[in-house]
Amino acid sequence: MKELQDLAHKLLSDGAVTVVMGWEQGPRGVRPAMITTAANSHRLIFDPRCVHNLATYLNPRRSHLKSLGKPAIVVKGCDAKAVAGLIRESQIKREDVVIIGVRCGGVVRKPTQAPELTTDTVSPRCGRCDAREPKLVDHLVGPALPEPPKTCSVDMVARLEQMPVQERWAFWREELSRCIRCHACREICPMCFCSTCVADKSRPQWIETSATPRANLAWQMTRVMHMAGRCVGCGECTRACPAEIPLGLILAHVAQSVEQRFSYRVSDDPTLPAPVGAFKTDDAQEFIL
Ligand code: SF4
Ligand code: SF4
Ligand code: SF4
Repeated sequence: MKELQDLAHKLLSDGAVTVVMGWEQGPRGVRPAMITTAANSHRLIFDPRCVHNLATYLNPRRSHLKSLGKPAIVVKGCDAKAVAGLIRESQIKREDVVIIGVRCGGVVRKPTQAPELTTDTVSPRCGRCDAREPKLVDHLVGPALPEPPKTCSVDMVARLEQMPVQERWAFWREELSRCIRCHACREICPMCFCSTCVADKSRPQWIETSATPRANLAWQMTRVMHMAGRCVGCGECTRACPAEIPLGLILAHVAQSVEQRFSYRVSDDPTLPAPVGAFKTDDAQEFIL
């Protein structure tokens, strides 16, 4: 932690950046922090309660944060993939952000929990992690940490894969029927940056706005398809969902399909084109009748 605080202090006092986006202890657990003076660098922390993907603050939809000036951002491996995604999709420029990577040993599900990592407390995303040491960094801090404990959610993805299609359909219809269309899953996502979301368009209206089973399905299926090959698996939408819909499961399922079909895994290498934006003449096209 001291290493992170010292680095933030140096970057701010040298004028290399004007804000460091990290985490701090709040009154009800850990919360995101915007540190704008070197004197406040001591507030920065990193532990398993730092669940937030701060890359969402670089999302162009949050243009009001531009007034803070040049940012440094503290990222875990999954967060670094989102920064890479924003660079890959031309939403930010690499040279406009200083990236401070932290070595990660997993996080808990909610920032208000105790920091102890167990099978019950660890976030499901950590069981699928392939990036505990981010590579897209200007600085890397913290000691190497042991692997996070395994979660039961990993098995749930496999179970869903094996379910007969009708059963899987019934599972998701039931889960999505609880959706209240608050769109918190979209608002928190670092990779949702359209200035007008298709779900908000009224002329024509592609997706009904009411929380009916049909509209909920249309909304979430559209969102998930827009995330194919782009979702970084940070689990933030699942955390934000007030209806506790296991959105991470469907996103992991889609990520698995993208990997099987296109041999593509979302990484923190911004130069690797995502399947959605890269046409290949030898792509499988058997779905075209
Ligand atoms: S998914 Fe990986 S990098 Fe992200 S919090 Fe979990 S262990 Fe850390
Ligand atoms: S869809 Fe959810 S898990 Fe994927 S990047 Fe967005 S917030 Fe993270
Ligand atoms: S956060 Fe949950 S309840 Fe809100 S729109 Fe998304 S899926 Fe529906």
